[in-house]
Formats: sequence, structure tokens, C-alpha cells
Amino acid sequence: MIFITGIFVFIFGLIVGSFLNVVILRYNTGTTIGGRSYCFSCGKTLHWYELIPLLSFLIQLGKCRSCKAKISWQYPLVELSTGILFALTLLSFPVFSSRDLFILFFYLIIESILIVITVYDLRHKIIPDALVYTFAFLSLGAIFVPALHATRYTFYDLLAGPILFLFPFFLLWFISKGRWMGLGDAKLSLGIGWFLGLAYGISAIILGFWIGAGVSLLLLLVQKIAKGKTPLISGLGNLTMKSEIPFGPFLILGALLVLFLRIDITGLANLL
Ligand SMILES: [Zn+2]
Repeated sequence: MIFITGIFVFIFGLIVGSFLNVVILRYNTGTTIGGRSYCFSCGKTLHWYELIPLLSFLIQLGKCRSCKAKISWQYPLVELSTGILFALTLLSFPVFSSRDLFILFFYLIIESILIVITVYDLRHKIIPDALVYTFAFLSLGAIFVPALHATRYTFYDLLAGPILFLFPFFLLWFISKGRWMGLGDAKLSLGIGWFLGLAYGISAIILGFWIGAGVSLLLLLVQKIAKGKTPLISGLGNLTMKSEIPFGPFLILGALLVLFLRIDITGLANLL
């Protein structure tokens, strides 16, 4: 049964992912979310069979059917990630009652917002305020609605948002004097704090920080090796520890890992 529901939720995720692609693309561009999708190269309006999540991209080998222009990998990647994430959420929070269903949908909504933030941050190196505040206030609101979370919240968890808002600045000050984390990351941490509570929120930030630091070092290494030769990864430019590796995606990855695996790095979860 869980297998069939899992596939259903996966397909639902693919469809939501395809919608998120549209949101990511049209956010802040002045265009509306509505309106038919079209090819950016030849301007041809796309048929329904050219808009099937994942499948259209595979069948058309990543090219527009009319002008053969390459379609960005972002589309299938976002669709697939959303599908997998949604299915993992169902596995981690199986539905046995209507309350479970509420929790599942709440998590799926939060995850959708986080996916848009992730891709937007990767593309533009900025975290849109509207999205990050929606995430923070939905999470804060949910603390007061017991039906919306799988775990019990305590008084400390109300403070989690503001504490974690300051936490990246502390880490920043502690570890590097460069402008490694921005205000957007702090706003994101505010939401993560309220979403996961104090103990797990701290865990998520630390985890995100470790993963981010690891990946940054790896990229620096790759760049060092590639220096003088053709750059291995386009857009790497002149990367330094101080420069702009978007940190939001790592914080979000940390938060999702903690949500699914209940990783408690500091052991605070048992104390609070
Ligand atoms: Zn085209």
C-alpha cells in the first residue's frame, strides 16, 4: 500500500516541481504565473505533451521540438527532486489519520517553498524576502497548531527563530572574518528555527554549515587544479572562501536531513 501511495506522491511531486519551475522562472520578472508556457528560443507555445514533467525532457532529449534549442537541466532536476523529496516525506511521515495527512501537506508546502528558495539562490545568489518570510511565519504559526507537527513543541522552540537568526552571524564571526554568510541566510535560519524547534534547528544549521564548508573546500580544490586550464565548471570564476557560494541551499539541505533523520548533533533535544 505504502508503495502505491509512494508512487502517487512521487508523481504529484513531479507535477508540483513543474509548477515550481514556472514560479522560479517568472518570480520578480513582472510576468504572471498564469499564461501558456513557450520556448524561450523560438517563442513557440508548448503543447500539453511537451509539458509532461520529466518525460517530455527525456523523450525530446532535452531539446525544443521546433527549434532544437537546448532546454535547461533545471527543469527535469527540479521536477525529479520535488518528486523524490515528496516521496521521502511520505516514507518518513506515513499517513494513518487525517491529522497525519495535515502534517504531510504542511511539510510538502514548506518543502515547495524551500525548493524555490534553493534554486533561486543558486541562480541569482539571493534569497527572495517574500519566500523566506512566508517560510518563517508559516513555521511560527504552525507551532501554535499542534495538528501541524509530528513532534511536541516547547517554550524554547518559540525562541528558536530569533536565536537561530543570530546563530549564523555568530558562526561567521567565529570561523571567518569574510562575508561568508549573508542576511538572507540569517532570515532563512529564522524559519528553520521555528520549523524544526531549537534543538533540531541548531543541529540543522551546524549540519548545513559543515556540508557547505566541505563543498566550498572541494570547489576551491577543483579550481586550483583547473587553474590555467579550461575551467571544469563554468561560472566558477575566481572563487575564494569569501566569495559568493550561495549558502542557503546548504542550510536547507541540513534542515531537510534533520527533518527526515532527526539528527541531534548537540544532544540538546533530550534536554529541552
Ligand atoms: Zn524552440
